[in-house]
Amino acid sequence: MADVQMAEAETFAFQAEINQLLSLIINTFYSNKEIFLRELISNSSDALDKIRYESLTDKSKLDAQPELFIRLVPDKVNKTLSIIDSGIGMTKADLVNNLGTIARSGTKEFMEALQAGADVSMIGQFGVGFYSAYLVAEKVIVTTKHNDDEQYIWESQAGGSFTVTRDVNGEPLGRGTKITLFLKEDQLEYLEERRLKDLVTKHSEFISYPIYLWTEKTTEKEVSDDEDEDNKKEEEGDVEEVDEDKEKESKKKKKKVKEVSHEWTLINKQKPIWLRKPEEITKEEYASFYKSLTNDWEDHLAVKHFSVEGQLEFKAILFVPRRAPFDLFDTRKKMNNIKLYVRRVFIMDNCEELIPEYLSFVKGVVDSDDLPLNISREMLQQNKILKVIRKNLVKKCLEMFSEIAENKEDYTKFYEAFSKNLKLGIHEDSQNRAKLADLLRYYSTKSGEEMTSLKDYVTRMKDGQKDIYYITGESKKAVENSPFLEKLKKKGYEVLFMVDAIDEYAIAQLKEYDGKKLVSATKEGLKLEDTEEEKKRKEEKKAAFESLCKTMKDILGDKVEKVVVSDRIVDSPCCLVTGEYGWTANMERIMKPQALRDSSMSSYMSSKKTMEINPENGIMEELRKRAEADKNDKSVKDLVLLLYETALLTSGFSLDDPNTFAGRIHRMLKLGLSIDEDETAGDDADMPPLEEDVQEESKMEEVD
Ligand code: ADP
Repeated sequence: MADVQMAEAETFAFQAEINQLLSLIINTFYSNKEIFLRELISNSSDALDKIRYESLTDKSKLDAQPELFIRLVPDKVNKTLSIIDSGIGMTKADLVNNLGTIARSGTKEFMEALQAGADVSMIGQFGVGFYSAYLVAEKVIVTTKHNDDEQYIWESQAGGSFTVTRDVNGEPLGRGTKITLFLKEDQLEYLEERRLKDLVTKHSEFISYPIYLWTEKTTEKEVSDDEDEDNKKEEEGDVEEVDEDKEKESKKKKKKVKEVSHEWTLINKQKPIWLRKPEEITKEEYASFYKSLTNDWEDHLAVKHFSVEGQLEFKAILFVPRRAPFDLFDTRKKMNNIKLYVRRVFIMDNCEELIPEYLSFVKGVVDSDDLPLNISREMLQQNKILKVIRKNLVKKCLEMFSEIAENKEDYTKFYEAFSKNLKLGIHEDSQNRAKLADLLRYYSTKSGEEMTSLKDYVTRMKDGQKDIYYITGESKKAVENSPFLEKLKKKGYEVLFMVDAIDEYAIAQLKEYDGKKLVSATKEGLKLEDTEEEKKRKEEKKAAFESLCKTMKDILGDKVEKVVVSDRIVDSPCCLVTGEYGWTANMERIMKPQALRDSSMSSYMSSKKTMEINPENGIMEELRKRAEADKNDKSVKDLVLLLYETALLTSGFSLDDPNTFAGRIHRMLKLGLSIDEDETAGDDADMPPLEEDVQEESKMEEVD
């Protein structure tokens, strides 16, 4: 009975960003359109992974369609190419959400990348691969059936909207998704078998489900005249050949006819590459597997393919990409990139227990022989086997990084992209801290244009140098001329520049390297070896400046913890150091925005500053004389405060009250320019009063 039921089509508007993306895909010229097929096949493979995973715990999920496959059907008559999979399919809600109304975080990022000159082939990395269909198609129809819903049809010619309709009359899929592309007139090459086969070999060779191509076959057949008519029947699309040529001897007249038949041809190999021997796999094969695994458009930077045997057996391939993904430290997306297989069966993506967070940029596969097939995410958490696998993976990752380090150029690239991860590792992974420390690189007072390792630093250490010195700060520029380095430089000691915010956290955990203490140049506790002569001179100076130190502390009050004679500055008059266990100036800078939220932490971690003065400096000597002559000399107070504020700046702190500081500087300028204070009093009307300002004439004129 003819079923003429009709279902209503519902129309939906594409979400604004998706709409923009579609216009960009359709209207911009890209020569690399072929990647659409890889994207759609990769989506099919993901959908198959999902249903296979569900079926591990519930076999009946496969009932509607027990076979797992991907099929490609080019149709030259209608100029369509269909990609069919027996994956998990989509419910009506999935269709509406996934294909048009909810934008992924990557949508915008991808458009920005495109506009910045990126290639369309990057689309998969941004999680919007489906839309690449519009590179070659003017219209796309998605027919899909999920176990939990009816069969639905999604249809769109882009242009702002799509429709979703219940599929009442269509051929039932059982379960899965069929994507039909109505190819643009200039894209008909994607109907050619040769082209499709080559594309699958190039981009989708390592898909672990069979990919079949609906191929045309022409056979010549001898038929008798009277049989001719009967033989022109349509064949069904089953995997079987129509090549039986039964000759019926009873027939008298025979005639040759061309017969066109169709069959499914398997066009991918599917044997998992990790089961093969590493020495038999070419670099190109690894690259192609890496790309199919990650959607990356560039080759990997490094690969490690290994198997572990013995009590526990597994095989794995790990890759390091050439660059960091756009969302590497997106905390909303807590995931990694290791796919877990159990005896060749895909179990899950992003298995958190498999690799620590700091290695989340490493991609690859692990295939275990020991885990149960029906393992659930909950079971993974306490699983002992998984813990052993994890330990091995970390070890192999670190080995792989050291191998990268053998090539300078590669390592520079690697370090640029992932040094933050290594430092996060130092902070979190106490077991591998020492190994990770070997991978660190820093600029230093002696490194020149290239970064140095701690190991190389140690080989350059001076006789008698016990510690490794470093300084933290905002940038190389900000620290390389810091007053804190003066004495260290004079003694010829190398100082590492740690100018990454995360260095502060990493170094707090690292503490030492190769038995040598890591010592901050800006904190208390920096003790440099002196000669007898130096020691003697220092003692003398200390005694001579004792009373100035006291006077200064009285003037500065709570601003500083104490004032002492310095052992680390040579040229500058003074500097401000922080406690050995408190925050550095740099850490204070990093924490400031966060401290607004939690002030309790900052109040006890905030730097207790010690002012260190340089007794060899002319300013200090003059100040000492003046303070000794008259303790209450106003100019002494003004100068001490100015010195304190300047030291805040040169030591990497920020000024709480820049106006007062500026006021003091302006007064100095006027003195230098010999401008009478009274004459210009009007100009200063909007200036805040100087802290120690007094009515009587300032005695600062006396200062040179
Ligand atoms: P991605 O695949 O990176 O998530 P896409 O834009 O390619 O992004 O696809 C969006 C979503 O649409 C997928 O996450 C998936 O939920 C759904 N989808 C796409 N293709 C299929 C398919 N063949 N079978 C089932 N779901 C699919």
